[in-house]
Amino acid sequence: MFADRAKIFIRSGKGGDGHVSFRRELYVPNGGPDGGDGGRGGDVIFEVDEGLNTLQDFRHRRKFAAKDGEQGGKRRCHGKDAEDIILRVPEGTVIKEAESGKVIADMSGDNRRQVVLKGGKGGLGNQHFATATMQIPKYAQPGQPSQELWVNLELKVIADVGLVGFPNVGKSTLLSRVTNAQPKIANYHFTTLNPNLGVVDLEGASGFVIADIPGLIEGASEGVGLGHEFLRHIERTKMMIHVVDAAGSEGRDPVEDIHKINAELKAYNPEIAARPQVIAANKTDLIYSEDEDPIERLKAEFEPEGIRVFPISGVTGAGISELLYYVSGELAKLDDTPIVFEQEYFPEEELLYIDLPYTVEKEDDVYVVEGPKIEKMLGYTNLDSEKGFAFFQKFLKDTGILNELEEAGIQEGDTVRMYGLQFDYYK
Ligand code: GDP
Ligand code: MG
Repeated sequence: MFADRAKIFIRSGKGGDGHVSFRRELYVPNGGPDGGDGGRGGDVIFEVDEGLNTLQDFRHRRKFAAKDGEQGGKRRCHGKDAEDIILRVPEGTVIKEAESGKVIADMSGDNRRQVVLKGGKGGLGNQHFATATMQIPKYAQPGQPSQELWVNLELKVIADVGLVGFPNVGKSTLLSRVTNAQPKIANYHFTTLNPNLGVVDLEGASGFVIADIPGLIEGASEGVGLGHEFLRHIERTKMMIHVVDAAGSEGRDPVEDIHKINAELKAYNPEIAARPQVIAANKTDLIYSEDEDPIERLKAEFEPEGIRVFPISGVTGAGISELLYYVSGELAKLDDTPIVFEQEYFPEEELLYIDLPYTVEKEDDVYVVEGPKIEKMLGYTNLDSEKGFAFFQKFLKDTGILNELEEAGIQEGDTVRMYGLQFDYYK
């Protein structure tokens, strides 16, 4: 089956620990500290690979761990950095934290490469800790821990327009007629399992990318049958073409079908249901009935809502060009930035907010904040960058450190110290 989803475990490498050692030289009784620094742990990086169009590779192997950095050695020997691991995914893959479903990365548009889990930095060896009062430091810094996560990968096609409709209404036939795509066309249900993409070229108007969204059936929004799998593919399309069998050749009622599909879309995601729609009333070559014109019925029902109806035939080609020019014109009115999912989950922050204790104390006129959590956070954050500083401020707030400082009576302009860092407090 078409693999458009996978759940995998990823882990970055731990930083190597700093080393504790002392110089040993002949005739020198007490050599200074010479413990080297640990190496960096490997990152977990995702990269778009143009040659891939499924997530099949992740069906067989599901655990991906980068190596740890090497420990520091004697004689200032620096531990080796570990290699990063690079996971290649098709364009359009969205990476989500498995438990919360929050987006970590959307591998589409300009985003071709993203470091999802950072390897830990190596710890400093004891050579760095000698001071005037402490000449034989017997400690070194441990490497930063690794990070690990279960993530869901979801492939969401990138198309301007999605063809939706019940099985056998003629979606694949229409797609093959208007694009370079070669979908499977058959007179039995559930044939097409993967979304087919095609490019529509129009003379004198902008072309667009169209996707056949297969398998949309009743109950899809509740995960019935295969429906749910495919609703995901519609998330990035800006406009929808409802394809219906206007001739009712298989006993379906076209008006009812559109109501049903819109109900499914709404239940899945109201925002998607609100996007522009148009109706392709297909199989008009099979309409013989004289008493009731299904096209008029569709128009009377949907055109007052602003959904235009175009009678077409995927077999004879009648009406198709009017439909395509209308769609191109509507797309031109819409914002042309691609639908990209914003990052909602930031592994570094989330994984740092584990409950570690800290203390806030007043020493003379300085407020001193200490604890492993602060030390860790400072190790991860580059306060010289704007982003790093914003992160630091958010950290102080989210962890409740700001509150505690205020409770301890801090005033504007007072000094705060955290390990090597010293700054003045301003609201
Ligand atoms: P899908 O399941 O919506 O992708 O439907 P298909 O494109 O596979 O078409 C299902 C059947 O309907 C096939 O046998 C097609 O040949 C037929 N079909 C599709 N469009 C038309 C049409 O406009 N007129 C007629 N007469 N048959 C059509
Ligand atoms: Mg089909």
